[in-house]
Amino acid sequence: MKLMDRLHRLQQIDSRLDEIRSELQTLDRGEELSKKADELDQALKAQSEEVRNLRRQIKDAELELEDTANKINHFRQLLNSGRIRSGREVEKTEKELQELARRKDQLEDRLLAALERLESLEKKIEEEKKILEQSRRELENLRARAQERYQVLTEERVRLTSERQELVPTIDEEILSRYERLRARLGGLAVAHVEKGMCTGCRVALTSQTLRSLFNRDNLETCENCGRYLYLPPAPHNGEEP
Ligand SMILES: [Zn+2]
Repeated sequence: MKLMDRLHRLQQIDSRLDEIRSELQTLDRGEELSKKADELDQALKAQSEEVRNLRRQIKDAELELEDTANKINHFRQLLNSGRIRSGREVEKTEKELQELARRKDQLEDRLLAALERLESLEKKIEEEKKILEQSRRELENLRARAQERYQVLTEERVRLTSERQELVPTIDEEILSRYERLRARLGGLAVAHVEKGMCTGCRVALTSQTLRSLFNRDNLETCENCGRYLYLPPAPHNGEEP
């Protein structure tokens, strides 16, 4: 492998390692979905608690309603029985009955409202449970996919890192440190392909002298404009060993 090809391979490896690092950083492991599912779970717990309270209220209202109805019956029977003789007693009992009727209305209203709230809440809980279940399934898939991708990427990283470790000692230290400086300064790209007499790193035409020199692939040239190392792919039919 010629120096030009080794440098080019190093650039390929480093670019790919950059991509892998960035993909690993942005890998969706479902944090957002997990947060949403937790929030929904919390909401469901609060709603279930409300359902329990409502059921208790309904039970209480039903009991009190029954009690009130019994009292109303009792006073009506008392009035009808003719056992109360005094006008004042009658008046008092009638007042009591009015009071009880008002209370009964109140309880019936409260009971109805609670029943309606219970019905809509139970419907809502049912729907939210389905959404939560679906979110959890999605989350599981997402995590499995992320884990799989993580595996693939880290394996590739190990492979490339070991190839890089073998490649680096075959490149002159001075060239290597210039390569690293270029990469740091020029968005990670220190070795540019030559295409149609141009450096693809900066899109500036190369001098004919540089181009002539590049045709001998044993030479290492840099772009006069951006300073990148230049890579000329081997010509397919000149019998040159890559
Ligand atoms: Zn250039």
